[in-house]
Amino acid sequence: MRNLRGNAAGVTRRMRFERAAQQELVSVAPVPSIAPNGVEWLAVPAWAKSGREKTSWLWHGFSTRRGGLSRAYCVDDAPGELNLGFTAADDRETVIANRRLLAEAITGDAATPLVTLRQIHSNRVILVSAADASSSSSQGWKAGVPGDRSSSQGWKADGLMTDEPGLLLGIQTADCIPVLVADRKRRVVAAFHAGWRGTVNRIVESGVGRMRLQFGSQPEDLIAAIGPGIGPCCYAVGDEVFSSFESQFAYARELFCEVYDSDPIRTKYPMLFLTQRAPGHSPIGPSLHVNLVEANRRQLLAVGLKAESIQLVGGCTSCQRELFFSHRGSQGHAGRMLSVIGIRPGRLR
Ligand SMILES: [Zn+2]
Repeated sequence: MRNLRGNAAGVTRRMRFERAAQQELVSVAPVPSIAPNGVEWLAVPAWAKSGREKTSWLWHGFSTRRGGLSRAYCVDDAPGELNLGFTAADDRETVIANRRLLAEAITGDAATPLVTLRQIHSNRVILVSAADASSSSSQGWKAGVPGDRSSSQGWKADGLMTDEPGLLLGIQTADCIPVLVADRKRRVVAAFHAGWRGTVNRIVESGVGRMRLQFGSQPEDLIAAIGPGIGPCCYAVGDEVFSSFESQFAYARELFCEVYDSDPIRTKYPMLFLTQRAPGHSPIGPSLHVNLVEANRRQLLAVGLKAESIQLVGGCTSCQRELFFSHRGSQGHAGRMLSVIGIRPGRLR
């Protein structure tokens, strides 16, 4: 079955996808803001302007690898970095200190509570409150982990939502796509983690569905920001990934393209390499790349957000590794970034 399908897909997909050179697909690296504490982070420009979108009630930001105290992933003479995940290679105290720095950069207070997840590529979304948050200064979880109170690992889920001011919801990534959503009318925020599996599992669609159920959120009141992740320039995938998307989305084909080798000799003299190529299996032939940012933008549109309410931060974690951590770009040895959103307490609301 797999062989039959693999060969058929290899032959037919040559005619089915858009084609591009890798360079054409690279998005411009976004320009970070630099906080007084040295943390370099990305704001959504349309949200930073408090006028039209009326987002002065929001806290939000996407971290980069710049700033912070970690030495685990940097070259010898580089300054410390902002690893925000409790990875095996980094020191737990350092990560906690980095999380405090990010909270300070975004909210002005290093002790702002932060809720993160044990992410599992699901479509599971949980409702949280400040009581569920560990202070970013503390070691782990205080309480309020349903069904798993003794665990310091937190909830297994890929989405968070709250209507409570004064805490940050955080999604950890190092290639996967972070998606932040806010309901301007009901003052609700949510954050989702979308790798290719979570995208196929419709984490963003089910997350917005949960917002509707829980808070009565209406799609026309929602704004969303899709953060940096691995871009279509770099995210080569196997035919099985296409098959998974194809089984779920009528528009699946539009999310993929064939990317040509940027080696100028191969581009100029393709006939030299032609005989080495087995359809769909050649390391030198075009490879199939998926655009996860577009896939998640489609999900936001599918649940009724207006196109103009969806902001793309841009950037590719894999080819802009001076700015971002990339799991694939660093062969698995990478820190984690955090994308956070929260409701600012006090009179600005
Ligand atoms: Zn790239």
